[in-house]
Amino acid sequence: NKQVIFRDYFDGFPKESDMYLTTSTIKLKVPEGSNAVIVKNLYLSCDPVMRIRMRRVTVVGFTSYTPGSPLTGYAVAKVLDSGHPDFKAGDLVWGPSGWEEYSLITATESLHKIQHTDVPLSYYTGLLGMPGMTAYAGFYEVCSPKKGEYVFISAASGAVGQLVGQFAKMLGCYVVGSAGSKEKVDLLKNKFGFDNAFNYKEEHDLDAALKRYFPEGIDIYFENVGGKTLDAVLLNMRVHGRIAVCGMISQYNLDPPEGVKNLMCLVYKRIHMIGFIVRDYVHLYTKFLDTVLPYIKEGKIVYVEDIAEGLESAPAALVGLFSGRNVGKQVVLVARE
Ligand code: NDP
Repeated sequence: NKQVIFRDYFDGFPKESDMYLTTSTIKLKVPEGSNAVIVKNLYLSCDPVMRIRMRRVTVVGFTSYTPGSPLTGYAVAKVLDSGHPDFKAGDLVWGPSGWEEYSLITATESLHKIQHTDVPLSYYTGLLGMPGMTAYAGFYEVCSPKKGEYVFISAASGAVGQLVGQFAKMLGCYVVGSAGSKEKVDLLKNKFGFDNAFNYKEEHDLDAALKRYFPEGIDIYFENVGGKTLDAVLLNMRVHGRIAVCGMISQYNLDPPEGVKNLMCLVYKRIHMIGFIVRDYVHLYTKFLDTVLPYIKEGKIVYVEDIAEGLESAPAALVGLFSGRNVGKQVVLVARE
């Protein structure tokens, strides 16, 4: 069983050498009397939160990885053997699994059986999995959006951002996204239908850039990056605006994190700034699928993935999230069905 092992806790940016590949053995039979399942992993999801789990100090709700053990994260997998009444050999599932070829999954309560296979299976790591649910819950439940509002999204071409923008466009909002390359800006404007987009790396004055795109201010900010972007956004929010804090990737490799200077804008402008975590919204998953699957089939929602091939490519794929190497949802193809 080929595995990606977490080497040890570290400071700063992750490197490929913070992980290594090894091979161990695994019995492909569930132990007698256990209600676990054995799966063959097909696709692994690279998620920014995995960096947070590489810290020694556990952040509330995100268990730190154990040095010397395989990384864990979301995956799409095929059940090979099951001691659980809800799963049988041959079922396709998505949920928490190991960064390895085969996994024994005991946390079966978090596994979702995949019922719709007429879409790419890899979508269950992104569009139809955790990041998709994050976009859906974050936008519709946290932002309280209304038609015609001005929406800004950072890390806008990524797994979550590209979908938030498309939801906001469908509702009739004016939508601008920021991303870190020309290729990503082109995708935002020409593939995902954003009204406008800019490369934040080319803007030495983010406040001025936001004033250019939002002369009347921002109603909703979908926050994915934090730091300087958040500071500039605060200056450009409208009265009673909403900031959904999904994540702050620019801070994950900094210790201590950067300070934010303009927080008093929350008071002056009576802004609602709300952090959220997708797992509080799992009860909406069926409603989410019923909403999004028809959109996919009708071509109303598109999704861009960046698929790295082979478990060996997983460390580089994960590290790449922090330099913006990924274009769209970063997935690792471990095995075909
Ligand atoms: P992405 O697919 O967007 O990948 C990460 C992207 O972040 C990179 O491609 C890069 O894009 C951008 N980035 C990296 N470093 C920086 C930096 N220093 N400054 C600005 N941008 C940076 O990731 P996801 O869509 O999966 O995740 C987006 C955010 O959502 C993250 O903050 C993540 O932690 C959060 N999240 C939160 C969840 C929740 O439940 N609250 C659930 C899932 C995700 P670019 O080239 O544009 O810089």
